[in-house]
Amino acid sequence: MQTKTSDRLAFLDREIAALKEQSRFIEPAVLESPQDAVAVINGKKVVNLTSNNYLCLANHPKVKAAAIKAVEKYGVGTAAVRTIIGTMDIHVELEKRFAEFKQTEASLLLQSGFTTNVAVCQSLMDSDRDLLISDELNHASIIDGARLAKAPRKICPHKDMKALRAILESPEAKNARRRLFVTDGVFSMDGDIAPLPEITELCEKYGAVLMVDDAHASGVLGRQGRGTVDHFGLQGRVDIQIGTLSKAFAAVGGYAASTKQLRDYMCSTARPFLFSSSHPPSVAATCLAGLDVLYSEPHLLENLWNNTKFFKEELKKAGFDTGLSETPIVPVMIGDTAKAKALSARLFEYGVFALAIGYPTVPRGKERLRAIVTAGHTVGDLENAVAAFKKAGRELGIIRA
Ligand SMILES: *Cc1c(COP(=O)(O)O)cnc(C)c1O
Repeated sequence: MQTKTSDRLAFLDREIAALKEQSRFIEPAVLESPQDAVAVINGKKVVNLTSNNYLCLANHPKVKAAAIKAVEKYGVGTAAVRTIIGTMDIHVELEKRFAEFKQTEASLLLQSGFTTNVAVCQSLMDSDRDLLISDELNHASIIDGARLAKAPRKICPHKDMKALRAILESPEAKNARRRLFVTDGVFSMDGDIAPLPEITELCEKYGAVLMVDDAHASGVLGRQGRGTVDHFGLQGRVDIQIGTLSKAFAAVGGYAASTKQLRDYMCSTARPFLFSSSHPPSVAATCLAGLDVLYSEPHLLENLWNNTKFFKEELKKAGFDTGLSETPIVPVMIGDTAKAKALSARLFEYGVFALAIGYPTVPRGKERLRAIVTAGHTVGDLENAVAAFKKAGRELGIIRA
């Protein structure tokens, strides 16, 4: 029997009503199949343009087999934080392999990409004499990391190198004990790439530590998907590379790839590392197997980029505005939350799943649909998706009939 515990939470009814009024209330769709290019969502089989499963590793036979084998060898969990007795040899192996992947000396594994950003910002920016500088479109986890850091922060207008230079030349920056500039490598809402060569030069010139969050670039950009640093040939010049194991690697987790000193320091200071338990060993095995697949099946990365090019070109030809995208993240700009949601609903009727993104996740006027292409979509899947976009777009007056 259910009992109503308390009416002291009744204020939430009003809050929820307000969210609904502002089109900000979210009811997550439910996936009833593996995460794949075609999936069963809310009871319907659809072309899935919504996940970050870029290389379709989530349901890859070799990756699944590795996870099962790890459960048999190590059990299901560690029941401890890393610093107590939650570090297994397989976690250490993963850290070594992902440091190699990012061409750095060492890496430190944390529970998620979100946690990793929070941990690094909090560990390095631990005094009000420091200064944290952040691109205005950085991911929420960097914003929260900056809030938890003791350092004051400055927000740099998106990819504005003049503004970054002015901040680095300001007395606050000059007088700071440490300076840290943080940027997404690939921005998650627009799919544009940070101008890392220019950023690197400025950070070198003004002595700022540079941290790049490659959540959407790892497994996507650069040779063998090594990320933006490799893409621009900046090996050895970016101090900290953040990667996630939750997107292209389709498991869950994050890591900071950097020097051995950063790893050592964070092992003793990073609060999520010290106070939250470690990954199940099967997760580590999943990511190790994913890395092997990435190296041994280069056609996955090729498919991803061929599919991206094809899908974006077809949408543009049909008259859609795909914004600033340079990657498999394809925003379809609408400029109105209700209309973006209507497009998403109509697409679902036509067998395509792509989510609408409204304010405050994106600024007002920049409301959109976001579609993400993967290596596993066939040309047929993408042709069907484009046909659905055209039909729904004409019906809703988003493109000309
Ligand atoms: C998704 C994302 C994260 C969070 O990664 P998780 O591993 O899912 O916690 C961090 N930064 C960026 C830029 C992201 O897009």
